[in-house]
Amino acid sequence: MHFLDQAKIYVRSGHGGGGAVSFRREKFVEYGGPDGGDGGKGGDIVFEAVAGLNTLIDFRYTQHFRAPRGKGGAGANRTGGGGSDLVIKVPVGTQILADDDDRTVLLDMTRVGQREVFLRGGDGGRGNASYKTSTNRAPRQHGTGWPGEEAWVWLRLKLLADAGLLGLPNAGKSTFVNAVTNAKAKVGDYAFTTTRPQLGVVRHKGREFVLADIPGLIEGAADGAGIGDRFLGHVERCRVLLHLIDANGEDVGEAYRVVRDEIEAYGAGLADKPEVIALNKCDLLDDELVAAISAELAQASGGAQVLPMSGATGAGVDAVLDRLIEAIGPADLNTYAEMREEDGPDDEGEPREWSPI
Ligand code: GDP
Ligand code: MG
Repeated sequence: MHFLDQAKIYVRSGHGGGGAVSFRREKFVEYGGPDGGDGGKGGDIVFEAVAGLNTLIDFRYTQHFRAPRGKGGAGANRTGGGGSDLVIKVPVGTQILADDDDRTVLLDMTRVGQREVFLRGGDGGRGNASYKTSTNRAPRQHGTGWPGEEAWVWLRLKLLADAGLLGLPNAGKSTFVNAVTNAKAKVGDYAFTTTRPQLGVVRHKGREFVLADIPGLIEGAADGAGIGDRFLGHVERCRVLLHLIDANGEDVGEAYRVVRDEIEAYGAGLADKPEVIALNKCDLLDDELVAAISAELAQASGGAQVLPMSGATGAGVDAVLDRLIEAIGPADLNTYAEMREEDGPDDEGEPREWSPI
């Protein structure tokens, strides 16, 4: 199970330009022959997979894509100019699916730089010059240009969360996601309610990664007791877990252990992932107390480094992001292609999680 980001868009390739009806007009020539040029071809709809995009959120704002039509032909056998192709840039890993069943994968954009013509622009109509025959030397026939094609399609992207956020309710997870993710790229704000995972794209020091907030992680969730179980699966692929602990809680060591027990009970290698431990809401405490509580938490976590921070004021947040990027490692552009292979065919039957429309 993965996060799905999807958007429905309308695409139309350009109509071909009309052929011209024209006759030569020259001094001293009584009947000029036909010289109407052909119309230009309409622009194609092209999809291109690019690096650096992580979500389909931009397609929420622009849903209609129409390539320009070809120009009409003209006299003196001039062919009309072609309409330029409309290149739609999508994140690597995007699949383009048929609207009618939204199962059939029409295009699979797995490589950076991959370009596919999806709808071809209509051909231009023939100018009257090309209808000239030995018996019809002054044809007025011409082609009007072939129409472009149109389609509604679904774009679907499996979002890969690089970092998963763990912590008891009220640890400050949502606040943290809101503080560090780019509002425009944030998926959470239009799709996921509080009972769904919140995803955000973090841009930090020239790097970009997807952070997933797993809400409602409660004790016993791994046994299916709460909604946490449904969402723990989402963090299975994360390369690092960020564990937030409220510094103002009764017992930070206990708070840490509850969540650790949870992910250990869950299995699937979750407990073996690198973990960054952050002591949150430190803005409410003085430095001395922060140091004492950090030490207490470090001990409970077996001597791990504890990063004090405040999602509310932003203090210490950069250091946490540095650590996450370090743990995520270099950006791997092939991840989506690998994911697709691993998924196998039964993943195709996955129900649509939500629709942005
Ligand atoms: P979640 O349940 O883990 O998603 O926690 P929330 O982000 O919803 O935060 C729970 C409460 O703690 C809210 O009232 C937040 O305003 C508050 N909170 C979150 N982070 C901080 C912080 O860094 N400092 C302070 N003082 N309050 C915070
Ligand atoms: Mg929350």
